[in-house]
Amino acid sequence: MTFVSVVLDLAIDKALDYSVPPEWQGKLLRGAHVEVPVRNKMHSGYVLELKESSCFSPVKPVHGILADADLIPPDLFDLALWMARYYCTPLRQVLKTILPASIRSHMEHKQQLFVMRLKTREELQEYCKEMRNRSPAQAAILDEMLLVKKGILLTELLEKSKASRSSVKSLIAKGLLQVDSVRIDRSPLEGAEYCRTKPKKLNPEQAKALQEIKSSLESRMFETHLIHGVTGSGKTEVYLQAIETALQIGQGVIMLVPEIALTQQTIERFRSRFEGKIAVLHYRLSHGERCDEWHRIRRGEAKVVIGARSAVFSPMPNLGLIIVDEEHEHSYKQGDEMPCYQARDIAVLRGKMNKATVLLGSATPSIESHYNASRGKYKLHTLKARADTASLPVVSIVDMAPEFAKARGFTNFSEKLLEGIKDRWQKGEQVLLFLNRRGYHTTLFCKECKKAVQCQHCDLSLTYHMHENALSCHLCGYRMAPPPKACIRCRSPNPMKFQGVGTELIEKSLQALFPGVRCLRMDADTTRHKGSHQRLLRAFATGKADILIGTQMIAKGLHFPQVTLVGVLNSDASLNMPDFRASEGVFQLLTQVAGRAGRGEFPGEVIIQTFMPDNSTIQLAAAQDYNAFYREEIKIREAFGYPPFSQLVKLLVSGENESQTKAFAEKVRRDLIQKLTKEYEVLPVLPSGYARVKGQYRLQFLVRGPSTGPVSKILENIGPIPKKLRVRIDINPSSTYF
Ligand SMILES: [Zn+2]
Ligand SMILES: [Zn+2]
Repeated sequence: MTFVSVVLDLAIDKALDYSVPPEWQGKLLRGAHVEVPVRNKMHSGYVLELKESSCFSPVKPVHGILADADLIPPDLFDLALWMARYYCTPLRQVLKTILPASIRSHMEHKQQLFVMRLKTREELQEYCKEMRNRSPAQAAILDEMLLVKKGILLTELLEKSKASRSSVKSLIAKGLLQVDSVRIDRSPLEGAEYCRTKPKKLNPEQAKALQEIKSSLESRMFETHLIHGVTGSGKTEVYLQAIETALQIGQGVIMLVPEIALTQQTIERFRSRFEGKIAVLHYRLSHGERCDEWHRIRRGEAKVVIGARSAVFSPMPNLGLIIVDEEHEHSYKQGDEMPCYQARDIAVLRGKMNKATVLLGSATPSIESHYNASRGKYKLHTLKARADTASLPVVSIVDMAPEFAKARGFTNFSEKLLEGIKDRWQKGEQVLLFLNRRGYHTTLFCKECKKAVQCQHCDLSLTYHMHENALSCHLCGYRMAPPPKACIRCRSPNPMKFQGVGTELIEKSLQALFPGVRCLRMDADTTRHKGSHQRLLRAFATGKADILIGTQMIAKGLHFPQVTLVGVLNSDASLNMPDFRASEGVFQLLTQVAGRAGRGEFPGEVIIQTFMPDNSTIQLAAAQDYNAFYREEIKIREAFGYPPFSQLVKLLVSGENESQTKAFAEKVRRDLIQKLTKEYEVLPVLPSGYARVKGQYRLQFLVRGPSTGPVSKILENIGPIPKKLRVRIDINPSSTYF
């Protein structure tokens, strides 16, 4: 092959042809990162295609190869091209998401400190000349650096150049070289204890689902299965046996779980079945660990990958099965950074590209997935029975208005919940209490001007943390310690008033109500340190506490057989969010939380405290009636034209200067209105739910229409974005408010 067509980062729809110099022929593969001249300037791009001839002649030669020519497996390269178009993101940035940082910087296995050039060869040659007399040691190092392809081990470099570490350091300080560290061969699973489990006997519902999944796997056809199984119905056992089948016929498997559920509990369960074949990917891995795991997968040594969102990009050879557990989870969507991809959608797409079987599972499937199943796009399997002997918990709703009246003001616990806690504590059973707010008090406000103390940098009230006696911002970490005695705004001499309840306060009041009760609290404050998350879960699982209080962290996927009572202290705030997914989110959360009760041999009870006892979402969640909720929700979505009956694009513009930010958002909006057809509705520019974060004003608008393609096409060319402004294009955002 003597020619290649190359796509540049920013214009992937227009490939350019180049000739391949003889020395690189046969080495340049599809997806290779190359440097090519465009109008006499060098640009980086990727090889899209190899070809015998070019319609444009003469063409210029490829100037350089920037990375290992076969770094990106072909299926991932195709995926990257698709994502660049669909998510309206430069290819380079997509590849940054797909490939781990350690792989992109070309670190290799078992290396410790790796030195790389930060300048082109030409520039280094210049420096080398200059330094020859002044600093021969540094010149010697540069000589070596000019000989290597991409970089060299520090130890090797020092040996060859006979220079000292300090000479290397000064070259790094000058910005000519760069050094990166890698830990050697550290498997993230090392040292973890586990006990072996054997495949369990399936009940008829599970067996039927597995049978159909097996036939998809064996026929090597792209097919998506949605397993709708109540909490505790044994979805995981179906996953495990499906994986076994895939492995028996030589296929690779990717299994996605929400980051929060990627606990030792989950990993152990999989590891015990598929010893030695598992790779685990999550954000707590060091660069070196991640690099090792990536290569193990790429070489086909690890046949099963378990990981959070980005594990969907694993370079698994012969990919045959992709599982997305808790497919409704919002953490599968990357919303804070482009490409704003949805890992569940990527899983289905990779399945299609690789003729693989895709398995989505949830107790509360997303409205979109269930809609796809109802239209026959996905195969639906319903698991109604709880596996083993466990039965669904009894759920009751407690109206808090009369409780407040009884307490002559305010109370955190209804009588029913208090009695329930007392009863379980006396019997030695465990209780889980859920509250979606951390801290002690959620606001400190002035009785005079009625304003809460706000963060200086964000549009958010500060939360009081008693343990630190400080107010803190949950968006940017800004702290005010100790809290102000008087109002900063109106200077009223009257004392300020704390309001709103967080997990920390609940913990303290339980200890006051039940002296001697052992409480554990799990929220972002108590899990800040590495391993603390696992430690808390283990402590609770082994009976070292009577009550576990927590935020949504405790709602998901945990299995505690001794828990017989779950209390939801208050989740009304989330229902009042102006977001079309608010009810769905609350329904899912309540169902998940309720599902933590009665997973062992004792029956479970759930108590939901609310000021909206008649709200249908709360009632349907209490009744654990997903189908009724789906029927109600899908009607609303259709009536108001929300997904899955339309597609949404959210454009968020942020900047320090409010009027400049708004002006740019308005300009883009006008542009879209002008260019889009009448089927598209461009909603007004509004402040985001977080109107200001870290000093940046955030303005956004939504576009709604039959597909996102035409919107992306226009947004791709919005022209130069003013300096100091940031634009984020979110295709099918998970929230229309934040
Ligand atoms: Zn005031
Ligand atoms: Zn802040």
